Amino acid sequence: MEAPRHRTTRDLKLGNRMRLLRALYFDGPLTRRDLAPATDLSTATISNVTAGLLADGVLREAGKVESDGGRPQILLEVDPGHARVVGVDVGETQVRVELLDLKLAERARARYALAPGRHDPATVIEHIVAGVKEVLAEADGAPVLGVGVGMPGIVEYGPEGVIHAKAFGWDAVPLGRMLMERLDPLPVHIENGAMTMGQAELWFGAGRGADNAVIALIGSGVGSCVVAGGALYRGAGSSAGEWGHTTMAVAGRPCRCGCRGCLEAYVGAEGILDRYLAAAGVVELTGEGEEADLERLLDSAAHYSASLNSASHDSAASGDPRGAAAAAVVDETVEYLGAGLADLLNLFNPELIVIGGWAGLMLAHRRLADIQAAAGSYSLGQPFATARIVPGLLGPDAVAKGAATLVIERFLSG
Ligand SMILES: [Zn+2]
Repeated sequence: MEAPRHRTTRDLKLGNRMRLLRALYFDGPLTRRDLAPATDLSTATISNVTAGLLADGVLREAGKVESDGGRPQILLEVDPGHARVVGVDVGETQVRVELLDLKLAERARARYALAPGRHDPATVIEHIVAGVKEVLAEADGAPVLGVGVGMPGIVEYGPEGVIHAKAFGWDAVPLGRMLMERLDPLPVHIENGAMTMGQAELWFGAGRGADNAVIALIGSGVGSCVVAGGALYRGAGSSAGEWGHTTMAVAGRPCRCGCRGCLEAYVGAEGILDRYLAAAGVVELTGEGEEADLERLLDSAAHYSASLNSASHDSAASGDPRGAAAAAVVDETVEYLGAGLADLLNLFNPELIVIGGWAGLMLAHRRLADIQAAAGSYSLGQPFATARIVPGLLGPDAVAKGAATLVIERFLSG
């Protein structure tokens, strides 16, 4: 009976430390007095555990607040500089590696472009390993807790970190094991990129405090992260949230997943640009990559629509067929996106939908009201009326930041 009792005491101590650490991480700075109701711990325990965390350098004092009639109370917070974490975003156009402090402030970054069609595991792993080494050189001697990686596709749970990513041509690649062999002794955690972005927006962005939310990731591809009852919803095989491959049009445009008519084929950056090139009869936009192309397309559509609304109606309509094609494709994209969001509203009844990903942010920053209106016109009244649809707050590097939260999550769990 000795061993279990010993373990129970140790678990209880870890439990207390974890409860305090989590309260201070997510809601700090707090005084020791604030921590009692926040953690359900006694003042003696709070005093003991915070003393240990201060001595370890995990916590720091953050000023004082006056209390009614008593002594001023010292505020405590997690010291963001106590340790570093690495977040990696493997996207279709680049591998982005960031060194972050515990509050996800960037300390260093490295980026490696991925050429179209060059997404083989060896190339991606070389970029990740090179990027991690590059940013670790900037760690200034602070301990590095581990590496989190956000990947497209389906990430199987387990020690091998197996990836199935059709867009990359990967079928059951044990990326976790391959990276751990290269990055030892750093722990490596892998998760789907939409899930990592969702967790970053939930922790520090537009999703803060939401219990039922969907975070939509729109880049070259399209995914989502469903939050149900405050937790990420993964499904039986961790592929839940593959919103990009829900059907928008039976027998519609071919999708990279092998099916036809998927949402991704209409609102993913690649799908939007392909539709424009076909409509305008041109072979390229800027030649500078998808991000520059989509920006150009959205600008061109906005310019055309503005000229239609001005006095020069006829000259704009007759003299700018490419502008007209751009405006038509972007308007249609807004409509498809609204219909896709309506499906999320009807299926999950979220209080909040966050539109993120680099292409999603570009669309939301220009056409949010139209996207909201389109979502309203395709959804049931009640779930639409009770939900907010907002752009993400963390910007296009939310996937890398979210990947770092995989490491921080372990740290906060003792
Ligand atoms: Zn598809």
